[in-house]
Amino acid sequence: MRILIVEDERRLAEALGQIMMEQRYQTDLVYDGADGLDYALTGQYDAIILDVMLPKVDGFEVARRLRAAHISTPILMLTARDEVPDKIAGLDCGADDYMTKPFDIGELLARVRALTRRQGEVLGEQLAAGDLVLELSTRCLRRGDKYVRLGFKEFDVLRQLMSHPRSVVPKEDIIARVWGLESEAEDNNVEVYISFLRKKLLYLSSNVTIGTVRKVGYYLEVPVG
Ligand code: CA
Repeated sequence: MRILIVEDERRLAEALGQIMMEQRYQTDLVYDGADGLDYALTGQYDAIILDVMLPKVDGFEVARRLRAAHISTPILMLTARDEVPDKIAGLDCGADDYMTKPFDIGELLARVRALTRRQGEVLGEQLAAGDLVLELSTRCLRRGDKYVRLGFKEFDVLRQLMSHPRSVVPKEDIIARVWGLESEAEDNNVEVYISFLRKKLLYLSSNVTIGTVRKVGYYLEVPVG
């Protein structure tokens, strides 16, 4: 997980960078809007923490230009307390969320997690959806204290579904990803693994279920909130 921090108050930027690194995010720090734009336009970040009042190019303009360039990286804007009307402008220009300075670090981390989770991935080695966490290195699927270790194919199937929660993943895509494009795998092969996974979700008493769209594919049903 890579985070870009664009903040001209160096002490704040460095403190944020430190905190993000402790949370195992890789972070880059830049101190003005022009550098922020250059870095963010590479599209390599999972989230951007963007101050509004910045030298050279302000935060609104950075967000606007990123969206104009079709960079969809989630943006968390930082505004000063007396810039409240800016919050709305911030969201209009393509930011996803905002926080007012001074802010609580715990809340900032929660918001960053929420923003990155929208893309399906959390903290690099895990995927989260609803109450489930899938650990990518160990293939462990957890809900709270309970966990099961998935087989390779089950893992590959679930990983695809969890990367796009609530979206229908076509069966052909699952087959292509899990068994390879040239594979002879039949549709019912996928069904077998989906049924294994459903049993494991039941065992974990998860609030997540796997829905079927007949003749199309599968999706992860995740409760809202
Ligand atoms: Ca500033």
